[in-house]
Amino acid sequence: MSAQILDGKGLSREIREELKSRVTDLRARGIVPRLDVIVAAQDPASLAYVRMKRKWAEEIGIVGEAYEIHDTTTQAQLLQRIYELNANRQVHGVLLQHPLPPHLDEQEALLALGDEKDVDGITAASLGRLVVGLPGFRCATPLGIVRLLAHYEVPLEGRHALVIGRSQILGKPAAFMLLERNATVSIAHSRTRDLPDLCRQADLVLAAVGRAEMIHGDWLKPGAVVVDAGYNKVDGRQGDVGDCHFESCREVASWITPVPGGVGPMTVACLLSNAVDAAEREIES
Ligand code: NAP
Repeated sequence: MSAQILDGKGLSREIREELKSRVTDLRARGIVPRLDVIVAAQDPASLAYVRMKRKWAEEIGIVGEAYEIHDTTTQAQLLQRIYELNANRQVHGVLLQHPLPPHLDEQEALLALGDEKDVDGITAASLGRLVVGLPGFRCATPLGIVRLLAHYEVPLEGRHALVIGRSQILGKPAAFMLLERNATVSIAHSRTRDLPDLCRQADLVLAAVGRAEMIHGDWLKPGAVVVDAGYNKVDGRQGDVGDCHFESCREVASWITPVPGGVGPMTVACLLSNAVDAAEREIES
């Protein structure tokens, strides 16, 4: 068996085309969608992600400022910046690119960010809304994953989905979004025992670990769906290697996301989609 590809790159292109026409409509009404970004200046990976997000945003017609956080930036200055952005009605969304420099309190910064501006869907308020089933911005990476699975009509209802990883930005919200779609969800983490055995019981494995090629084909149930959110640095190069060993997993799985070209482009498309949703709220207000 050779798994079919869940083509995130192709679907993200379609989503961006649709967003472009929604932004044209907004601009015709005098609304210019704006997504501002706060990013650590000393983190090359974060700067590269932000460059890509801004490039795609500009192609769609979304404007935005990027604010760099330096080693000398204080928590008070960071919070002041967030309060200003919260109060600025021209700013529809704010992305606080993870991670911030270690001398800053990221949780406190996220708590300061207004719910209506959290287009990355990672604040406590946004995650709380997900957990209790209220509308709100859904976290961009898991949202990209469930949209990709829906596009390819991969069934989730009643299926056993194993999420490996429990981070605030990925594993936990992914588990709740799969639960929302009636999957039976297990969550694994660094203290989980017998992970390969647990994997073999899953109809869908979502790898969100950050360890290059940790999951091999012999960990999978034949016909399982493999979603690889990993984006790992190998030999100093960021991003070309996922958490799953692609070739061996592809032999056993029914569907698989490639790295790159799977989850990554869907994350950016869904972040921008949330930003356009935020701008459209201005029509209703
Ligand atoms: P993270 O905050 O470091 O979380 C990693 C999770 O994996 C933790 O919950 C950890 O468990 C668990 N883990 C670590 N080693 C493990 C092991 N040996 N067995 C089982 N679980 C293990 O990472 P993250 O921010 O969620 O990111 C995960 C990966 O996704 C990274 O490669 C990252 O680059 C990538 N990512 C991609 C996108 C995208 O758009 N494609 C977006 C975000 C992240 P504990 O909780 O017990 O420590």
